[in-house]
Amino acid sequence: MKLLPLPAFQDNYLWLLQDGQRALVVDPGDAEPVLAGLRQAAARLEAILVTHHHGDHTGGVQALRAATGAVVYGPARESIPSPFEPVAGGDTVTALGLPWQVIDVPGHTAGHVAYYSPDVDGTPLLFCGDTLFSGGCGRLFEGTPAQMLASLDRLAALPDATRVCCAHEYTLSNLRFARAVEPGNENLIHYLSHCEALRSRHQPTLPSTMGQERQINPFLRTREPEVVRAAQAFNSADPGDEAAVFAAIRLWKNEFK
Ligand code: ZN
Ligand code: FE
Repeated sequence: MKLLPLPAFQDNYLWLLQDGQRALVVDPGDAEPVLAGLRQAAARLEAILVTHHHGDHTGGVQALRAATGAVVYGPARESIPSPFEPVAGGDTVTALGLPWQVIDVPGHTAGHVAYYSPDVDGTPLLFCGDTLFSGGCGRLFEGTPAQMLASLDRLAALPDATRVCCAHEYTLSNLRFARAVEPGNENLIHYLSHCEALRSRHQPTLPSTMGQERQINPFLRTREPEVVRAAQAFNSADPGDEAAVFAAIRLWKNEFK
């Protein structure tokens, strides 16, 4: 299996997974880069996995379905371009002969889902849309901090080796914020310089791994004493209230320059 982040728009990645014959794509906001990727791989598009309803994740669905006949899977609780197979947490869909477990991850949007396959050529693979980013998380457009925290906890429980395929290249700005939250986190400082080197060569910083994210992502680390103290310093968040600590870090990120 080959896994490729196809760049689109400013900073989106449309993830293409293919074995030289058949392919799946996640969140095709634009059809053109996907059609080009399929031609290059000489692969037939079998499935389109959609994580949430935003246009930069769904804009190419109709054109791709029309061009390839691929089956579209999308969150049951959101409106995405019909017809599609509605999925929800606990479901498993099959694509490329692999099982994809659907995980409910509300917060960025109310019905956002993620897709997880435990063994893709020996490693687990996660497509998490705009819920988890490397070093960060999605904005809370339709959910509460408590919902988003529970969603991220669900993802953080996946194995360390899980390859984390996020839908945007936000890593450097996320890690610069993360450094302000946890200036004492040496793994984070090290990872930031690694990612700066990748970006200076115009290479993607993704996929990340869940083990890496647990070390460096402040939104997966809201129970760490240094993160709790930073939240308290930001807006006097109650250190005993996990959702309040999470909310403080998320608010701070919104205004961080
Ligand atoms: Zn989005
Ligand atoms: Fe997005």
